[in-house]
Amino acid sequence: MTPLHEIIAARIREGGPMPVAEYMALCLSHPEHGYYITRDPLGKAGDFTTAPEISQMFGEMIGLWLAQAWMDRGSPKPFVLAELGPGRGTLMADILRASARVEGFVEAAEIWLVETSPALRRKQWESLGAHQPHWADDIDGLPDGPLFLIANEFFDALPVRQFTVQNGALCERMVGLVHDRLAFGLSPPLGDADDLPGGTEEDAVYETCPQGRSIAATIGARLASAGGVALVVDYGHAAVRASGDTLQAMQGHAYADPLDAPGEADLTAHVDFIALSKAAEGAGATGWGVRGQGALLDWLGIRVRAAMLAKKQPERAEEIEAALDRLTNPEAMGTLFKALALSGDDIPPPGFAEELGA
Ligand code: SAH
Repeated sequence: MTPLHEIIAARIREGGPMPVAEYMALCLSHPEHGYYITRDPLGKAGDFTTAPEISQMFGEMIGLWLAQAWMDRGSPKPFVLAELGPGRGTLMADILRASARVEGFVEAAEIWLVETSPALRRKQWESLGAHQPHWADDIDGLPDGPLFLIANEFFDALPVRQFTVQNGALCERMVGLVHDRLAFGLSPPLGDADDLPGGTEEDAVYETCPQGRSIAATIGARLASAGGVALVVDYGHAAVRASGDTLQAMQGHAYADPLDAPGEADLTAHVDFIALSKAAEGAGATGWGVRGQGALLDWLGIRVRAAMLAKKQPERAEEIEAALDRLTNPEAMGTLFKALALSGDDIPPPGFAEELGA
């Protein structure tokens, strides 16, 4: 049993079952034993990989997206170039390298990394130290000024609440103890609450991510008052109301039971892009809809970049082609992963003015 298992079990013995969201928050962010607090989870030796770790092309395309959006807004100087949950700093490093050709962009960028994990802050320092980045614990720690923000696989790590309807009554999914083992259960029927998703289908699971919506609203308010754009890339859904239990655990690149090893496995849930967009729009920003990752990368020219890289390094041609396929193919990350663009004005962000397909 993990040390965090002991802590969670003791809390349940004392205070009763806890909502799934509280369990998820403890697993990921407990100040001593939280999954992200204690380790670098990325890469071959870790538990999962992400688009920027698959290929430099991902960050390069995002860098061009940001630089174009910046020029479209009159190249404001200085501006805040922010990333939420930067992992190893790979995405930001690729962004800065690709956008270095755009005159004035890197020089005008004040780099801000929103990161809670001391282990990952160290990694970020190693990859980005030369650019003198600043760190913030949360989005409220970002300074004022035009904001150009990116978040890749950040929102899927925020705790979700899960609700279900039983005999016509709405209940919250909880984590409790059965014979000293962690087990899912349900709360007593809940009254009406603002936070509830309002689903009525018997036995279906409805998820909400209050922290995600709150962060999206803060981004929206910042964009509306100081200008700029945001790009949120993650895996999830863009249907008006999706249901289902999407909580999942990954350990050693394989799916695991979310209750098996608290603090030792990555826990994520699908991102509800419509909810994020609505929260940002409610705070004054413009939401430009959701595009498949593959379609957006295609539009930004990833195929041309892949051909160029393969020509420069023929010995890596196969690897480059495989990465391109993984990032863009609908059977891989191409459509499950999606991008949501937000802006503080009515200038369409690159790739979001016209239909791109799925
Ligand atoms: N964006 C990176 C890493 C994704 S992993 C990539 O694509 O490779 C999720 C990242 O979000 C990690 O850096 C993790 O430490 C950070 N994170 C998770 N929850 C957070 C929170 N509540 N506040 C700030 N950072 C968080």
